[in-house]
Amino acid sequence: MSKFFSNKFSGLAPYVPGEQPKGAKYIKLNTNESPFPPSPKAVAAGAKALERLMLYPDPECGALCNAAAETFGVRPEQIVCTNGSDEVLSWAFAAFCDGDRPAVFPDVTYGFYPVFAQENGVPYRVVPLKDDLTMDIDALMAAQGTLFIANPNAPTGIALPRNVIEVLLRADPGRMVVVDEAYVDFGGESVVKLIDRYDNLLVTQTFSKSRSMAGARLGLGFAAEPVIRDLNTLRFSVNPYNVNSVTLAAGVGALSDPAYTEANCRTIVENRAFTAAGLAKLGFELTDSKANFVFARCPGVSGEVLYQALKAKGILVRHFAKPARIADYLRITIGSRAQMEALLSALAEILNRPI
Ligand code: PMP
Repeated sequence: MSKFFSNKFSGLAPYVPGEQPKGAKYIKLNTNESPFPPSPKAVAAGAKALERLMLYPDPECGALCNAAAETFGVRPEQIVCTNGSDEVLSWAFAAFCDGDRPAVFPDVTYGFYPVFAQENGVPYRVVPLKDDLTMDIDALMAAQGTLFIANPNAPTGIALPRNVIEVLLRADPGRMVVVDEAYVDFGGESVVKLIDRYDNLLVTQTFSKSRSMAGARLGLGFAAEPVIRDLNTLRFSVNPYNVNSVTLAAGVGALSDPAYTEANCRTIVENRAFTAAGLAKLGFELTDSKANFVFARCPGVSGEVLYQALKAKGILVRHFAKPARIADYLRITIGSRAQMEALLSALAEILNRPI
């Protein structure tokens, strides 16, 4: 820390992203990226937009809001476009939390939430997951503050049904509920359509996973118009050009190709079932993941040791040393069938067990 760094950031512990090794020496199953390239329609639209890079992007993100409105069955005014969904999530902490309304989220969830809270100077409370790693809905209902729910949750992959989210929304119409649907396309139930019924709902989605565009950085927020206006107040105060024109165009291209996205999601769901069955056969215990990753532990074997052994064999997965109760789990992104076969073979060798 330099002597110039503001005291307000002295305790800030930044988020640690998964490793992004240079070159192709690893099978990369550590950051929940898609193994498939983006839709050719997204690539073509993005390439065309490169020709007009001398101009600023449309600060209203009009074409993308219109295309997303059509895709998701909402109005363009109910959408905000952001630089990855991390950005809309960070703005939600800034916009809807304060001393009277702390952020509230489960203790095991997306590791960026506490960082967003600290970075935005807002207090937060955690509600422990139950022993089976499912959310404690009664405790979440009772906690006062702005709720942040990843659905499916990360890194457990466990999903809540729509009616449970509705219970949370109805429990206190005076509190905001933010539902982070980064992984919803792999088997979860989206609540985007509920924004017309609940003015205390903000739903976030991303193009990073099911639409294979993690490198483009594109996220969407869906909510009633006054909530979107609040987020746009922040957006226009921080960076009205938060989404670049190549990404905006590629996003419209991706939305014009729903069949491509759906086919890729189906393949990931099939590969997830294949991987889960293979891991179970090797003796692993798994959560019921509805995301593009599995969350698994091998009883009696340390998560750290497995992570290192896989890395030595050229396979990167994600291991979280904290909190302690998930330290023996690995979060493994679902890739192509060949990648998952390589993972299972490597684990069989490491554990000296038959596949
Ligand atoms: N929410 C969750 C639960 C995530 O795991 C991620 C990806 N790391 C994000 C949001 C953010 O994704 P992005 O910024 O790429 O949209």
